Amino acid sequence: MFRYRFATERLSLQRSLTMIVPGLLVLVACFAIYVTMLMRGIDEQRIRVEHDTYLRAAQMSNLLAQQMEALVSGLDYALKDLANSYQAGNKLGFEEGVATMQNTFPEGTITQISIADARGTLLYSSLGSLRNDGQVASIRDRRHFTVHATGTFHGLYISDPVFGRLSRQYTIQFSRALYRDFEFAGVIVLSVSPRYLSSLFHKVFDNSSDVVMLLNQDGYYLARSLDEDQAIGKHVPTSRTFLQDPGKTHGTYETTAALDDIERYYAWSRVASYPLIISLGLDKAQATTESEHAITRILTNNTIGGILILIASLWISYLLLQREKSVAMLTDTARRQSAIINHFPGGVLVEDQDGNPIVANQTLCRLLALDINPDSLTAHTREAFRERAPQGMLDWIDQPLPPTAQDIDGAALGLEYELPDGRTLEIDRIGLDAQAQHLGTLWLLKDITERKLRERKLETLATRDSLTGLTNRGAFMNALAHLPTHHLLHGPDRQPTPAAMLVMIDIDHFKRVNDTYGHHAGDQALSHLADILRVSLRAHDLAGRLGGEEFVLLLPDTSLAQSIDIAERIRLAIAEQPAHTDAGEVSFTASFGIATLSSPPNPETCLEQADSALYLAKRSGRNCVCYWSQDSGKPVQSTSAT
Ligand code: GH3
Ligand code: MG
Ligand code: MG
Repeated sequence: MFRYRFATERLSLQRSLTMIVPGLLVLVACFAIYVTMLMRGIDEQRIRVEHDTYLRAAQMSNLLAQQMEALVSGLDYALKDLANSYQAGNKLGFEEGVATMQNTFPEGTITQISIADARGTLLYSSLGSLRNDGQVASIRDRRHFTVHATGTFHGLYISDPVFGRLSRQYTIQFSRALYRDFEFAGVIVLSVSPRYLSSLFHKVFDNSSDVVMLLNQDGYYLARSLDEDQAIGKHVPTSRTFLQDPGKTHGTYETTAALDDIERYYAWSRVASYPLIISLGLDKAQATTESEHAITRILTNNTIGGILILIASLWISYLLLQREKSVAMLTDTARRQSAIINHFPGGVLVEDQDGNPIVANQTLCRLLALDINPDSLTAHTREAFRERAPQGMLDWIDQPLPPTAQDIDGAALGLEYELPDGRTLEIDRIGLDAQAQHLGTLWLLKDITERKLRERKLETLATRDSLTGLTNRGAFMNALAHLPTHHLLHGPDRQPTPAAMLVMIDIDHFKRVNDTYGHHAGDQALSHLADILRVSLRAHDLAGRLGGEEFVLLLPDTSLAQSIDIAERIRLAIAEQPAHTDAGEVSFTASFGIATLSSPPNPETCLEQADSALYLAKRSGRNCVCYWSQDSGKPVQSTSAT
């Protein structure tokens, strides 16, 4: 039983999984595709942000390079002008030019304007003093002098930041060679504070971790918008493209600055006409903050959405599984019930609470000769169902229960019903009640015709005399004891007048019959007498064989006079109708003793009185009728044999 149940559940689970697993796989596949597309979109977004940041950096770097070119060319122009004034001996014009230059820029920007001769000895310094530690100051060892003196550089030279011997601070030297009659005659040097340049950058990138720097051709910092004090005097790694590839005018790179450990996207541009490079770095974290926040939001929302979808899918799957399981179990239960009903050894009918048929089996339809397919039973109403039955076949269904039916807890069992065609049904009616609610009625029908026939046969065997077919002694005595009293109360004034008569019959000299014709002929003679009794009696009279050649009659609703008449008639019939036996015709007579069954009935007394009357008949010569007189209290002869 359990094994069957588990097997069914396993089967239903397999069925459910076959249905749900592909659905879940499709969901997971869709989810994976969605996540892949989402991640690809995020990557593209990051690349776009990086690209936009580089583009912005490149545009700004290019712009700053142009501004720097304008600034430097202005300085260069002023430097050339000063050099011309100086070489022309226009001292006034030269000094005015120096003053104008110093006034043009914020204070401290132009730290010095100086001129040295071809040997590097200072001829002029805007600082005034030409001496340093008591010696005439010289710049012949400075690179911004040597590059011109040796002729290795032409044009405007821009030095690394140099710590000035006179100015005592870092300055950037912008130097140009002076020529007289095409001979090198010295240099003019403009010293500019890197702070000024840095301050220009501050204006562009105030309070930001973005950075802009100005580098010379050797990669030295000339200015840096951030940490300028640490940067001045240092140079960027020589691996930078702008140092490696002088032919390139601009480019990008990504690095973490050693100075402040910040990762940035850099774009660099060469300053046209001058050996300067502007490199501008945008803080990667800052540049991508917004988009990373957006990405985090998208990822968070999608993760939550995904989890919710997953939970919902699992929940739906679980519900589907449960439903499938319930449906499978219900189906199995319904199939089992249907199998039980169809294999039930009898008719089954289930009605709902309104008496409409719901379920029936084939056996029921066969038993009641119903022209209905049990599977389409629910299409019939209560009335239609009853109309489809042949006359009288379904009458039991609406009949009140007979008092003999056992009624236990709403179940009436063992009701016997005889169908019009003679068959007998045993019907059980079981009320289908649950939680005080009536849900319908279950009828179980069994054809007990054969059993009934067998029972009747057995009853006959038990109550009949096998030779004559008359009631045997036991059954007769039983009938006598249970004689309904109304047979005794019969009378015009409903007085308890005697009204049932007992007649005892004994064949005369039967021994001789046996002796003369044989025992078999004797038996046939006994049957012959029984036949005479059967045709002589009324339907409600009872004839029995007490044993041997003794018979007895019970005549209800009969007076003494009537019983004497009946006895006389029978006596004459016996005497006049010989028995046709195998041994030939056998004639014999019989003696009769009658007694009245008074009220209340006393069978023993009555039998004794009848026997006593019979004894008198024997003594009176046989073949006569005697009766027990109630008045005299003794047997009396009524007739005599003729
Ligand atoms: P009586 O007139 O005084 O009644 O004489 P009787 O011979 O009839 O009486 P008795 O009681 O002496 O004999 C009864 C006989 O009935 C004896 C027996 O052989 C016979 N008998 C009893 N039962 C059967 C039976 O079933 N079949 C046959 N053939 N004879 C039976
Ligand atoms: Mg006898
Ligand atoms: Mg006899």
